[in-house]
Amino acid sequence: MTRIFACLAIALALASCRTDQETTRAAATLSTQNAGDNRIAKTLFGAAGQGSDQSPEAIGFYSRGCQAGGVQLAETGPTWQAMRLSRNRNWGQPELIDFVQDLSRFAATQPGWDGLYVGDLSQPRGGPMLTGHASHQVGLDADIWMLPPDRLDLSRQEREELSSISTRRASGAFTNSNWTPQHMAILREAASDPRVDRIFVFPGAKVAMCDAETGDRSYLRQIRPWYGHHYHFHVRLQCPAGDASCETQNPVPRGDGCDQAREWVDNILNPPPPNPNATPSAPRAELTMARLPGQCTGVLNSN
Ligand SMILES: [Zn+2]
Repeated sequence: MTRIFACLAIALALASCRTDQETTRAAATLSTQNAGDNRIAKTLFGAAGQGSDQSPEAIGFYSRGCQAGGVQLAETGPTWQAMRLSRNRNWGQPELIDFVQDLSRFAATQPGWDGLYVGDLSQPRGGPMLTGHASHQVGLDADIWMLPPDRLDLSRQEREELSSISTRRASGAFTNSNWTPQHMAILREAASDPRVDRIFVFPGAKVAMCDAETGDRSYLRQIRPWYGHHYHFHVRLQCPAGDASCETQNPVPRGDGCDQAREWVDNILNPPPPNPNATPSAPRAELTMARLPGQCTGVLNSN
């Protein structure tokens, strides 16, 4: 049985964006100046209303870090709208803001798509959030709605109330009728972008792309099957060049990953019996300031 499936039963109960299972190479420059600071990080970062007046820097790991010099994605642009403005999560590193805008311009070339509805990026100073998302902490993660935008003049209120659409059926084993070739084209464009590290989408979508692709398949490596991710897909950028405080995630495995995605789908359709010897993983410990890179204290204290 694959390791992927071994953690399925446990992980199903967790948030859909929990994407930090793989180990990381620690950045060399992270400080520990905040040792002993047991304040709860999400409370502090959740209260920061503006980006820090610092040079842009992604600090730490996607699920344990913060961002300096975060930039706000404009609430509305020619080819995008940021959704759920009340959350104030339309902030990211400059590379992420550029990427989202570029992808939205591509999306606007697709039939039926005026651009993109953009879900959560990061909080103004990144860090852990009071609700949702284990990752999205360093300004390099973006959720993109599956709902094709047919207008880009939604009011603030409409952006609170409108829902995205699910593109899956059979618990993620297959796509449903909401899934279109345009979804695949937008995911292909995103995965082919050299700034992108990986993309998370439900297993049935990955297999659908594996089956439908008739051209270059190399980008499929970056499309990673994951739990949830049928109302939106999640784009993770690589650490920006020269950002010494940013922790790189281990590279995605070689190959297009299609066989592994098919195995996951098989396990959804025909679940193997639970392993009686499995030990449940411990609940995730609350992130205190001491567990974040020391630079994050400076981010919080900055103007
Ligand atoms: Zn996400």
